[in-house]
Amino acid sequence: MNTIITRYVQNGQLADLYDKVMEGRRLSFEDGVRLWQSDDLTAIGALANIVRENKNGNRTYYVRNQHINYTNICNKGCKFCSFYAQKNGPAPYTMSTDDVRVKLERTRHIPLTEIHMVAGIHPKLPYSYYLDLLRTVKATRPDAHIKAFTMVELLQIQKLADKPMEEVLLELKANGLDSLPGGGAEILTDRVHDTLFPKKETATEWLHTAMTAHRVGLPTNATMLYGHIETIEERVIHLIKLREAQDETGGFLTFIPLAFSSKGTKLEHIPSTTGALDLKAIAIGRLMLDNFPHIKGFWMMITPPVAQTAQWYGADDIDGTIVEYEITHEISQDNSQQLSQRKLVEMILEAGREPVERDPLYNVIEREDSRTLLPHHEGNRIPLPMAAG
Ligand code: SF4
Repeated sequence: MNTIITRYVQNGQLADLYDKVMEGRRLSFEDGVRLWQSDDLTAIGALANIVRENKNGNRTYYVRNQHINYTNICNKGCKFCSFYAQKNGPAPYTMSTDDVRVKLERTRHIPLTEIHMVAGIHPKLPYSYYLDLLRTVKATRPDAHIKAFTMVELLQIQKLADKPMEEVLLELKANGLDSLPGGGAEILTDRVHDTLFPKKETATEWLHTAMTAHRVGLPTNATMLYGHIETIEERVIHLIKLREAQDETGGFLTFIPLAFSSKGTKLEHIPSTTGALDLKAIAIGRLMLDNFPHIKGFWMMITPPVAQTAQWYGADDIDGTIVEYEITHEISQDNSQQLSQRKLVEMILEAGREPVERDPLYNVIEREDSRTLLPHHEGNRIPLPMAAG
């Protein structure tokens, strides 16, 4: 942190947290509440940036990925969701395994490292569908890592399999599953659960399922949907529950704050989140989740400009190229659903960070076509970033 910013934080209302962060001490529930209550976004971001740079230096990770949302039929009716098929809303669809194969074959020329699959809870799909889906993806893109199924999907799959969750996870793993995206955590409190998504898994079930996955060797991410009816205290409770689970298993890779978008949901009266709230969610996530290796500023959710800024507010990951994404309609109308690798690299460089292509487990991918995009490569025409920091 440069001297001016350090002095600014040391003389401000969060000076005591500066000492805690510098000494690597864990922030408490009360600290978390104070951070959310504070309007000193500069100080919050600067504190988060200390942790970010201690853990990940100047690197910003990205991945080349394709999303498959295999069905939008869902019997859970979550009030914040605009994805599932309903009257006056999206038309229903379900992909056969052949449909999935065709989608993947269309992108065969792209060296993707991740296939990301999540969907609704279709009450009529059998257990065999999920196993076939995994086998189809593995057979079509054997080189790609399969990250699939939120906790509510896993609970549905377990119900169909009628076996303990450990056994089901091992069977999915044997058929190609490599990790879990960690979606659907929303806000891990009973009040928010009972108000917004009573038919979905509870906070306890979400955490238990994630921790079971970790124990059988399947890493996961963890999300937080913010900007709807949750209180500041509930956001902090959510983060502390994740931190405690991580203390036990160490299986979470990345925390992904998801900005709530109300368009097309039953909560249309709630305005969209602001850039300031998006940056705060990322920064406070970085500060509270001291045991999470990575924090993502998901460009598609918070827009590319905010995702760039987020790289100085605690985020060290910007997600990926994303081919086809159906979940958030409002965002996908305003922004392209796909960014080329060149565009992603340019965005990261322009933000003043070092772009690093990763696989879903954060192994660095070294490829000639990645190297040619970097500024020091002969013939490169990308402008160097402006001096940052
Ligand atoms: S959030 Fe997921 S479980 Fe809830 S309605 Fe939407 S698709 Fe279904």
